[in-house]
Amino acid sequence: MTDASNAVSARSIGARILAAVNRPVTIADRAFEVSASCGMTIGSRTPDMTPSRIMADADLALYQAKEEGSNSVAIFEPRMEAPRRRRLQIERALRAPQMEDALHVVFQPIVDLASGRILAHEALARWTDPDMGEVMPSEFIPIAEQLNLIQRLNDRLMDIAIAEARSWPSEIRLAFNLSALQLCERGFAATLLHKLRRAGLATNRLQVEVTETALLADFDRARQNIHGLHEAGVLIVLDDFGAGYASIGYLRELKFDQIKLDGALVTAAQDSSDGKRLLQAVIGLCDLLGVASVAEHIESEELLRLVMSLGCTAGQGFWLHRPVPAHRLGAIEQVSLVSNVVPFGRHAAA
Ligand code: C2E
Ligand code: MG
Ligand code: MG
Repeated sequence: MTDASNAVSARSIGARILAAVNRPVTIADRAFEVSASCGMTIGSRTPDMTPSRIMADADLALYQAKEEGSNSVAIFEPRMEAPRRRRLQIERALRAPQMEDALHVVFQPIVDLASGRILAHEALARWTDPDMGEVMPSEFIPIAEQLNLIQRLNDRLMDIAIAEARSWPSEIRLAFNLSALQLCERGFAATLLHKLRRAGLATNRLQVEVTETALLADFDRARQNIHGLHEAGVLIVLDDFGAGYASIGYLRELKFDQIKLDGALVTAAQDSSDGKRLLQAVIGLCDLLGVASVAEHIESEELLRLVMSLGCTAGQGFWLHRPVPAHRLGAIEQVSLVSNVVPFGRHAAA
């Protein structure tokens, strides 16, 4: 449009386009409503403003508009480029040969809340890139999954984690997060069991953490792999329960050994009495099913007291222990807890 030279006029033209698209359409006596999103950019006649650049900028504005909800107009601003640039940088670095050499693993203890004993150390991926510095797994794992690079990455991470776990006391397990792609890969269970055998780590020293999203991807295949691992003695843990679309149906279809209660569910228990009742109900649900409950994100003594009083089986969080490199796990076998907390509903038994 040559008559829209500033953001205000562009926005008003965009709004008129959306209003036109928005008008109900009648087809065979039924009214249909259509919504749209509109992204625009204002170009200048400079050599770097090629048609493809203009389209790419307008596209970024379109993503922004979609994020604002349907029927929105967004005009390109340079700040919208930052996430795209970052994403491209991560993609390029992930695809680089020998990228795996920049991966390392830190471990965070999972603590039994009755005794303070360490039940397991959870392996958490870390990546230090020469240009970007430390990139967190919540950022690079989803991208590696989309680029189909996750198998290669996780294979390396698992090797590192298993090698470390071999030197721990035999009652401390290794907890490892599986990605959706691994869980839904044909024959994954057999490959993993073979890896354990080769490394000399007993199958009952491993627990795998899976999320509901991973189960959703291909439930039948996931079930086969979970079954294969479980049969061989690997513990199966449902991670991040209560985040996103918690589906109670999975609890009936699959037998979990532990359920990790998502950090948001746990911390919300501090904020309101409804939050507390919800956490209490979920812990009760785990108890009824005979599954251990593990509270994530215990960040304060107050929260530790709360989850202990609600009868949660185990806990993990910065207050108990931060994720640390393997050599700093040292000889910790016990974490000191708080005293004088009688778990809810266990008064009679005490
Ligand atoms: P997750 O499995 O739920 O791991 C727990 C996350 O919570 C970790 O983040 C941990 O550092 C963080 N955390 C622990 N205690 C606290 C606390 O008290 N407060 C708060 N705010 N956070 C706490 P991290 O290391 O950034 O990992 C994020 C996610 O990335 C993990 O969530 C897991 O889903 C995924 N991930 C990490 N390592 C791997 C891996 O090797 N493979 C796969 N497939 N996914 C991984
Ligand atoms: Mg986990
Ligand atoms: Mg989790």
